[in-house]
Amino acid sequence: MVIPTGVRLALDRLDRAGYEAYIVGGCVRDSLLGETPTDWDLATSASPERIKEVFNGYNQIDTGIRHGTITVILDDMPIEITTYRVDGKYSDGRRPDEVHFTGDIVEDLARRDFTINACAMTESEVIDPFGGKDDLRHGIIRSVGDPKERFKEDALRILRGIRFASVLGFKVEEETKKAILDCRELIRNVSMERITMEFSKILLGDAVYDTLLEFQAVMAVVFPEIQEMVGFDQRNKYHIYDVYRHTLKSVESIDKDVALRTTMFFHDIAKPSCFTLDENGVGHFYGHAKASAVMAEGILERMRFPNRKIRDIVELIKYHDRPIGLTAKSVRKLLGKMGEEQFRRLLKVKRADTMAKNPNFQEEKLKDLEIIEGIAYSLIAEDACITRNQLAVNGNDLIELGIPQGRPIGRILDTLLEMVLNEELENNKADLLKQAKAIWVKSRL
Ligand code: ATP
Ligand code: MG
Repeated sequence: MVIPTGVRLALDRLDRAGYEAYIVGGCVRDSLLGETPTDWDLATSASPERIKEVFNGYNQIDTGIRHGTITVILDDMPIEITTYRVDGKYSDGRRPDEVHFTGDIVEDLARRDFTINACAMTESEVIDPFGGKDDLRHGIIRSVGDPKERFKEDALRILRGIRFASVLGFKVEEETKKAILDCRELIRNVSMERITMEFSKILLGDAVYDTLLEFQAVMAVVFPEIQEMVGFDQRNKYHIYDVYRHTLKSVESIDKDVALRTTMFFHDIAKPSCFTLDENGVGHFYGHAKASAVMAEGILERMRFPNRKIRDIVELIKYHDRPIGLTAKSVRKLLGKMGEEQFRRLLKVKRADTMAKNPNFQEEKLKDLEIIEGIAYSLIAEDACITRNQLAVNGNDLIELGIPQGRPIGRILDTLLEMVLNEELENNKADLLKQAKAIWVKSRL
């Protein structure tokens, strides 16, 4: 196990000043799993004032001084050092009314959420009062103490538990699982920002399919919209999964990127409300992409996603089911409309959507997407005109033609681009200027 120099220095200084100090929490969990933690947390018997004294002369930040946490920079590394702590009563289901400092590491470990997060270690020993090492070895998420009590204290733990199951691919132990389901309504007490943060991490987990299937009822507290998708039979030969399973399959099939995975989670959210059956008993979902885009927009606003991200995700959902066409013309038009980055994302979305459908029809679809990708690459490589500033003329050229500065210039450039994308016009200066003049003259008749 590799403990960074800064952390060893911190442990050492506290020890030499006569205090106990341990590495605790997520970094112990990750180290025991053989991973390299990114942030390091220490717990110590020293009071916050003593911590400040011990690290006098070092860069210090009072991160959460009221809760006993001080961040010290050692060997260029920020290290969070917290006095051993026992949490008081929780009356709001979010945070303790008060905290007490204690001299006992076991009391500090007892306030932590899951056994795998409740080990402490130094270079030479691991303190493990709740069987965290065993649970890590067997892949089990288990509450420290009575799970119901612990979720009632702080409902964020419900989402953290689900997150660890998804990210680590662990099973949630039966009692803990029962308590998660029984207490699920309490996540209404958790702030939207924290829900969104945990939900994003859940989506990025390797075991997202199994986990979100198992804890669908918890997700439905946050997003009642998904309830309809669960078990919804699509009655269509292109599908072998119900809408919710298809959704989770598609999430699992795309890159581990929050925007892309969020797109997949909501891409079919309106499907149940768009369902129709034809005379042959075949199911259809006309208009579901647009309707899902509208619904997703509302949900993402509620989740306080940044506006730019919302715009991107909503656009991807809107286009996820629209055929692109296998011609240079059709690819170029959509590339022009969406921009290169979004277009690339759209191809990933379409691929993931296909992977989550009936395997019998996948091959052809995937081949088409490859062709489209090839066309897009060539267009980009040959620097084909896709956006306004790739036109062989610019605003100044039009002003020189005698067209007045301002709105008409932009409008004419847009029209020229559209004609080029439609292959009605070549992107060369002479042709473009001629056409610009014609548009301008016509507009004044
Ligand atoms: P990550 O850093 O990957 O999000 P983590 O488990 O390290 O995961 P932190 O928020 O860094 O999470 O918290 C550090 C430690 O503090 C946890 O490992 C756990 O022991 C404890 N902890 C964090 N949040 C809670 C909580 N809501 N209830 C109880 N203990 C918690
Ligand atoms: Mg952490």
